[in-house]
Amino acid sequence: MTSSAQPDNSLPLDMIIFGGMGDLAMRKLLPALYMAHLHGNLPAATRIISTGRQDFNREAYLAFVEEHSRSFISDGNFADDAWRSFLQRLEFVRVDVQQDDLSALAKVSREGAIRVFYLSTAPSLFTTICEKLSAAGLVDANARVVLEKPLGSDLASAVDINEAVGKHFAESQIYRIDHYLGKETVQNLMVLRFGNSILEPLWRAPNISSVQITVAEEVGVGSRAGFYDGTGAMRDMVQNHLLQLLCIVAMEPPASLAPDAVRDEKLKVLRSLRRFNLAAIARDTVRGQYIRGASGNQAVPGYLEEKNVPPDSGTETFVALRTYVDTWRWSKVPFYLRTGKRMERRSSKIVVEFANPPFPLFPETPGGVANRLVIELQPEEAIKLQVMAKQPGSGMHMQQVELNLDLHSAFTQRRAEAYERLLIDVVRGRLTHFMRRDELEAAWEWADPIINGWGALNEKPRSYAAGTWGPSESFALLARDGFSWFE
Ligand code: NAP
Repeated sequence: MTSSAQPDNSLPLDMIIFGGMGDLAMRKLLPALYMAHLHGNLPAATRIISTGRQDFNREAYLAFVEEHSRSFISDGNFADDAWRSFLQRLEFVRVDVQQDDLSALAKVSREGAIRVFYLSTAPSLFTTICEKLSAAGLVDANARVVLEKPLGSDLASAVDINEAVGKHFAESQIYRIDHYLGKETVQNLMVLRFGNSILEPLWRAPNISSVQITVAEEVGVGSRAGFYDGTGAMRDMVQNHLLQLLCIVAMEPPASLAPDAVRDEKLKVLRSLRRFNLAAIARDTVRGQYIRGASGNQAVPGYLEEKNVPPDSGTETFVALRTYVDTWRWSKVPFYLRTGKRMERRSSKIVVEFANPPFPLFPETPGGVANRLVIELQPEEAIKLQVMAKQPGSGMHMQQVELNLDLHSAFTQRRAEAYERLLIDVVRGRLTHFMRRDELEAAWEWADPIINGWGALNEKPRSYAAGTWGPSESFALLARDGFSWFE
């Protein structure tokens, strides 16, 4: 294993993308690198070396990027001269990692540069790529590797990937990406919690009565059925994105912002998540699969009618569950997680519900949740605090109003996209917003029994019409505790 070293950011940088012609590279990575270039956030001597199996020379690759990537940069951010100077940074190396060694790449990559290897391929290629990078002498103490999800399909496969990559890279060189951790509002939640003192005394049981985390997609499975049908919502969304969000809500204050200080606290949360037995799985989880319905005003097919989905597929496109963080702080506070495809609309949010006042002093107004902190992640990022206020006029009628922490008007600075922010972190050697090996494995340790339990219980997904908020069992899950999903 290569020893870790403090990154030296004055060195030239070679950003080497495996899967450099793939969907992720075109839609997210190159546009994010362009934005970093536009705003002067890449070291001057940066080159981006894309690899792929096409028999392309550099000119053909640049034409491919023009055609497939440029349109993902918004008009407001596109500048002709910046785009041209960005393209000058690009190189292309043809390589089939299953057949070729990486000597062609070694010839192009500069000796002494910081090498960032972005593995934007199927994870089944990660082991081969890492072995061949080492064999080609490309992995030195300054090298970094970025791993895209999915990082395994269960604990055993995640361990395999971690072992294989860990043979060639020290843990401090490995950046496991979860783009939710790159979102401004998610990072801001840490500032809100730990940069202020007013929330901390309240941020615990019994002051908080429940936490909801929703990541709802409006789209269906689209062209991803080949991948998705073997995966499902639990592995694709809950095990990674939703648990990472839960960690940020539930973690104890870290001793510093050093990567391991933050990741130690997240790990403690993951290890404190209550384990599911079969009875809890049957009672506290809901699997769903969308059937035909409407998205907007458009009729859309059900999951089983989508291209490349087996007609008898039992894959879940929706999960809702209730879980607990078994610590003093969170004792008896339910955490409700929910994610799904073909929901009524795209909406990701964290909702922290505070306990109601102990005595109803204003009986003219019917009850309800008095205070919520709502952290919206998608489609817009916003933080809102709901409080009760007196309606003007006679009597003491209350009404809920929102204290809107409007970050867009508070800050004039540009807000970078998650991938751009995380790529800049990689370039600068900042690991705080990336998952450590033990975090990833702890998340699978929690998720595996649920997935296996569904199999053991022969739990078929419940149907829900496309364009709705999921099966009725998901509403019942909260209703029996006296809560409801906050849309
Ligand atoms: P993709 O479009 O299928 O691209 C995969 C890339 O891998 C292609 O460029 C392909 O090269 C390359 N590749 C496959 N076999 C190869 C080989 N033997 N040697 C060299 N290159 C090889 O997939 P993607 O959607 O970009 O996803 C890439 C990774 O990111 C996956 O792990 C995916 O799960 C993850 N991810 C993707 C998204 C997304 O929005 N797309 C989101 C989150 C995570 P060719 O061009 O030669 O076929």
